[in-house]
Amino acid sequence: MDVRKKLEILADAAKYDASCSSSGGKRKAGKEGLGSVEGMGICHSYTPDGRCVSLLKILLTNFCIYDCQYCINRISSDTARARFTPAEVVRLTLDFYKRNYIEGLFLSSGVIKSPDYTMEQLIEVARTLREVHGFQGYLHLKAVPGASKELIDKAGLYADRLSANIELPTDGDLKKLAPEKSFAVTGGTMKEISARVEQSRAERQESPKAPKFAPAGQSTQMIVGATPTPDAAILDTASRLYTRFKLKRVYYSGYSPIPLVDARLPAKSPPLVREHRLYQADWLLRFYGFRVDELTPPEQPDLSLELDPKLAWALRRREAFPVDVNRAPREALLRVPGMGVRTVDRLLRIRRWHRVTLADLARLRVPLTRMKPFIVTADHRPTGLIDSSRLAERVTPPSTQLSLFTSAREALTGEL
Ligand code: SF4
Repeated sequence: MDVRKKLEILADAAKYDASCSSSGGKRKAGKEGLGSVEGMGICHSYTPDGRCVSLLKILLTNFCIYDCQYCINRISSDTARARFTPAEVVRLTLDFYKRNYIEGLFLSSGVIKSPDYTMEQLIEVARTLREVHGFQGYLHLKAVPGASKELIDKAGLYADRLSANIELPTDGDLKKLAPEKSFAVTGGTMKEISARVEQSRAERQESPKAPKFAPAGQSTQMIVGATPTPDAAILDTASRLYTRFKLKRVYYSGYSPIPLVDARLPAKSPPLVREHRLYQADWLLRFYGFRVDELTPPEQPDLSLELDPKLAWALRRREAFPVDVNRAPREALLRVPGMGVRTVDRLLRIRRWHRVTLADLARLRVPLTRMKPFIVTADHRPTGLIDSSRLAERVTPPSTQLSLFTSAREALTGEL
C-alpha cells in the first residue's frame, strides 16, 4: 500500500482522538535544529469532527489487538487497515513541516503485539525526529496504558505532551465495553508521567540544563454518551484526574456510532451541546472554585442542556444572591452568572479606586441583562427579581446561530 493511501486511512482513524492540543509547549531550535514551538499554544483549531488542524494527526497503525467496543479500530471491526513504519512517519512529518503545513505531530496508535512494543515504535519516531533530524516542532505522543516505566520515561524526554486515554468515565463502563483496559492500569501510566514531570521540574530548578520531561504536561480523553453514565460521574472522574495526576486537560468526546457495534452501545451520538456543557463545567471546577456536587447535585446528576452550568447553579441557589460587587470576596464574584475570571480581576482593581456602577460593568463588556438580577452595584439593586418564577426565562439568552467570533472569544477567555 502506498504512503498516500496509508495516510488517508490513518489520518481518518485518528480523528476520534480529541486529546490533542499543543498549549504550553516551549521549544526553540538552536543553530543545528529545525522549527520551534511558541509559548502560546500553536494548535487550538479543531474541525467539527475533532481533528486538530495544525498538527499532523495520525495513527502509526489502526491494527489493534484489543476489542474496545466503542472503537472503529478494535480487533473485531471490519475496517480498512494500514500501518506506517516509523521511518515513513518521520518523512511525512518533515515534509509537511518544511512545506509549512503543520507545526508538529500528534501520534497515536492501536496496540500492536503489546503496550511495550507499541510504545517502542512511537518512541522510535520521536527519537529519530529529535536526534537524527534535530526536529524542534511540537510532539504529542500517546502513552500506551500499561507500557513499562522505562519506556514512558523515555517517551517523555522526546515529547512535549503525553496522553494516556482514560476512555470511559467509570471502571464499570470499561469492564463492560473495554475489558482489556482498567482505571488501575491507565491510572498507573498517568501516575508515572505525573511523577516524572514533577521530578524533571525539580531537577531543572537545581540545574537548568537537566532534561525536560513532557514540558507541556499530560492530557486525556473521555468518551461521553457511549454508556448511560451521568455527567456527575464524568465530572467526578475528571476532577479526580486533575487532582491526582495534575492533568493539563481532560477532553470530552461525544461517542460516534460506528458500524456493526455491540447492541449495548447507543445508535445515536449524544447532542453536541452535552460536550459543550461538560467543558463549561470542567472550566468551573478548575478555575471558579465549584465542586462537582454543586454542579450536578444528586437530584440532577446530568447538566442542563438549556442553561450553562453556572446559571443553572445560581437558579438553584438563589439565597446566595444578590452579590454586592463592591464588597463581595473574589470567590463570591466568580459565582455570579456572566462574571468571568478576567472580569472579576478587573473589578477588584476598579473598586480600589471608586464604587463600581452598572456603567463600569458595561465598559467591561459583561452580559448585563443576565447579570443584573444577581448583583448589587453603587447604582443598582434588583427588586424581587431573584424570587421570580420567570427569572430563568428572563436571563437566558435567546437561541441564536453561534458566531464564529463569539465562540472564539469565549474559548479564549473562558468567561461564564
Ligand atoms: S486500544 Fe485503542 S485503538 Fe485499540 S480498540 Fe481500544 S480504543 Fe481502539
